[in-house]
Amino acid sequence: MVKHYDIIIVGAGMVGATLACGLAEAMENFSIAVIDANAPDLDWDSDGYDMRVSAITRASQTLFKNIGVWDSITNQRVSPYRDMFVWDAGGKGEIHFDSADMGEADLGHIIENRVIVKALRQRIAELRQIELFCPAQLESIEFNKDKTHLILKDKTKLSASLVVGADGTRSWLRQQADIAVKGWDFDQAALVTTVKTEKYHQDTAWQRFLSTGPLAFLPLTDGYSSIVWSTSPDEAKRLTGISESEFALELEQAFASKLGKIESVAGRAVFPLRLFETLHYVKPRLALVGDAAHTIHPLAGQGVNLGLADVASLITVITDALNDKKDIGDLKVLRRYERWRRADNRSMLVAMDGLKRLFGSELSAVKGLRSLGLNITDRITPLKNLIMQHAMGLDSK
Ligand SMILES: Cc1cc2nc3c(=O)[nH]c(=O)nc-3n(C[C@H](O)[C@H](O)[C@H](O)COP(=O)(O)OP(=O)(O)OC[C@H]3O[C@@H](n4cnc5c(N)ncnc54)[C@H](O)[C@@H]3O)c2cc1C
Repeated sequence: MVKHYDIIIVGAGMVGATLACGLAEAMENFSIAVIDANAPDLDWDSDGYDMRVSAITRASQTLFKNIGVWDSITNQRVSPYRDMFVWDAGGKGEIHFDSADMGEADLGHIIENRVIVKALRQRIAELRQIELFCPAQLESIEFNKDKTHLILKDKTKLSASLVVGADGTRSWLRQQADIAVKGWDFDQAALVTTVKTEKYHQDTAWQRFLSTGPLAFLPLTDGYSSIVWSTSPDEAKRLTGISESEFALELEQAFASKLGKIESVAGRAVFPLRLFETLHYVKPRLALVGDAAHTIHPLAGQGVNLGLADVASLITVITDALNDKKDIGDLKVLRRYERWRRADNRSMLVAMDGLKRLFGSELSAVKGLRSLGLNITDRITPLKNLIMQHAMGLDSK
């Protein structure tokens, strides 16, 4: 027996789960299946912090509010950041973004990924239109003219008018659909950990550009900071192998002791960094969202925010198509989503690649221009406000 749904979402990470909740909120009689290979740990100990955190923009916050998860996220734990300070280790350039300049209370929130996932999973359980298969392994997929068929490893058969791939950077669905990716050779990895610093972080997201890559200190509660240290894969490996005290000292030096001594270090983990975009976001009866469609460097904290912007656009495209009595899996309908999101995502991808190269250069002429650029931008208020608006996701509202 084949069970049919309006839509099947593969991947219930932050992006796929938000899409499921958003579609269920928008359409009362819409049937949604969500499949994820891995069951997340929802019963964690809140004494420590998740090593993975995300800087969530105001635009993403609005989406979370609309689908009814924002209160549940804030009731767990969030850290608003009111300032952002970026400076160049190889020159004299620096730039400071202050939420007060925008008349806003904050620039966004640093939130542990597990907090977001837990709130989304709880919301999924409340929405009767959603059926969750998790943990569930996919065995095969077949794209037909009228519907897409999926078979799980336990032989459960499902079909849908549209299948959405939200299964992350190594997307199985993208590979099955034979959609190629165009990427840049990045040769970078991110070391992540949580530290306590001697001086308070002042609710500021700090980022120092080193020639090896950016080093970010993101503010958490109780004076803790989440670290994202982008560097070469070999260096990241070395940094995870040294003792806690040696690491604390190297980290403090790399950060020019901006927040004083590093008083404690939690576990360290390394994530390979990728930068690519798929050549197509859609095919007949298939759409890709989030990291499955585009994966960027974490230096601007925009990866999941771009994925959530994909979600908002796809929900609009699907609801408009249904209102016009159109087939939601039709390529013409889906192309509207692709056109909408590709330009925004590509400009962010190119900007991230450019920044990485600009700050990676040791040429003195480039260093001079870099400092000049940062300092001039810092002094031109309208330009700074424009950058801040974009970083907060407020320009796409
Ligand atoms: C170090 C680091 C720091 C970052 N910091 C930020 C930040 O501050 N702000 C920001 O916006 N972004 C940040 N990002 C990027 C952000 O983490 C990603 O963009 C985001 O996690 C992508 O979400 P997603 O739901 O698309 O994919 P994922 O989070 O990868 O979720 C994919 C889901 O699909 C499931 N899955 C995978 N394969 C299958 C399969 N075959 N079948 C079924 N299910 C499957 C997985 O179990 C998972 O639940 C950072 C990334 C890194 C590496």
